Amino acid sequence: MSYIILDASNLEDYLFSLPKIKTYFNADSLIIDEIGDGNLNFVFLVTSSSDTSKQLIIKQAVPYLRCVGESYPLSKDRMTYEIRSLERFAKLSPHIPKIYHSDEEMSVLIMEYLSSHVIMRKGMIEGVEYPKFAEHISSFLANTLFKTSSLYLSSSDKRKLISQFNDNSELCKLTEDFVFTAPFMEDETNAYLPELTDVADRISNDVELKTKILQLKYKFMNQSDALLHGDLHTGSIMVNQDDTYVIDSEFAFVGPMGFDVGALIANLVMSWVSHTLQDNDSRYSDLILDTINSVWRRFSEKFLTLWNETEESALLTKGFANDEILQTYQEQYMQTLLQESIGFAGCKIIRRQFGIAGVEDIRGIEDDALREKANRLAIEVGERFIKQYHTVMNTDDIMKLIKE
Ligand code: ADP
Ligand code: MG
Repeated sequence: MSYIILDASNLEDYLFSLPKIKTYFNADSLIIDEIGDGNLNFVFLVTSSSDTSKQLIIKQAVPYLRCVGESYPLSKDRMTYEIRSLERFAKLSPHIPKIYHSDEEMSVLIMEYLSSHVIMRKGMIEGVEYPKFAEHISSFLANTLFKTSSLYLSSSDKRKLISQFNDNSELCKLTEDFVFTAPFMEDETNAYLPELTDVADRISNDVELKTKILQLKYKFMNQSDALLHGDLHTGSIMVNQDDTYVIDSEFAFVGPMGFDVGALIANLVMSWVSHTLQDNDSRYSDLILDTINSVWRRFSEKFLTLWNETEESALLTKGFANDEILQTYQEQYMQTLLQESIGFAGCKIIRRQFGIAGVEDIRGIEDDALREKANRLAIEVGERFIKQYHTVMNTDDIMKLIKE
């Protein structure tokens, strides 16, 4: 169907034009709520009026940035990449909401409503524990990253994959600008407390830091390891005690694996900063450090298991490597992946302190002095991550960089 913007006045007609969705709702009249809290898109919760257990989420991209309005045009094609990536991830991992319908032309995705789940960032701000999270997210990351890489796919399948995501250029450019560039220089889009001007000035002239950022930005732009979610922060994850779901993958592209792993670590670190400075004891913040440890440990175990189960791939032809060669290469590979994850995490942490988009964990601290302290602590950790990423050998090294 050719593109129209959906709203409360035409959504029911649109949904009933889709036979599968009409059947799902029994052609009953619908209750429509717009529940989007994101910056970019519209998200509707649609409920059948006679059977309120029948609920679906309808997400649509509009050709502008939702939080700014029509004066900030942004191609609605971003939804194409969210659709393609979520559909691909759903084949590789159970941690994606069930998809009922997608339409690239309409920039629409219709999916399961996660009624008993919350956005993980909100849960973590309240200090809720999610005991299965590390297990679930490590398995999501291992499966999606490994199985979309040249360690698993054939050479032609990998290139096909790249071509399906090659044109997500607008959103990749947003990351290049807002994660790797603007926060580290004077830029009108930056937004931070005036008290932080001294740090901002220091950072923008720090040769060691900024050359490392250029290294990392270059990897982001040129290293096509695997299909990434592209924005895997705790606001893109919905959780409860039993399940973990990943949503909102419109930044998907084929890029460096460490960018997804790093995004997650960065957001856990920012939650750690927030709890360390606000809680009466260190119980929850220690738990966050355990989670970081556990995510990496489980991820690397699962990734290597998948690798060892794979007989042939674009990279490894049968007969090319004996056990010793393979093992040595695998160790080097995981080392580099861990290091790049920490480097990317550092950029992500600092950009959230200076850039256009803060995180609620820190921005939501009401006491100005305490918020400034949180900004400074996060920036310190981010700087250590960026400056020392290439020295990280294991999770103990990450803990040292966080707690130094
Ligand atoms: P945006 O791209 O605008 O950031 P998101 O995909 O993050 O949009 O969705 C915005 C919000 O809508 C989420 O933060 C969440 O609260 C809600 N939401 C999105 N998808 C679902 C879902 N499948 N089930 C329940 N709530 C959802
Ligand atoms: Mg979002």
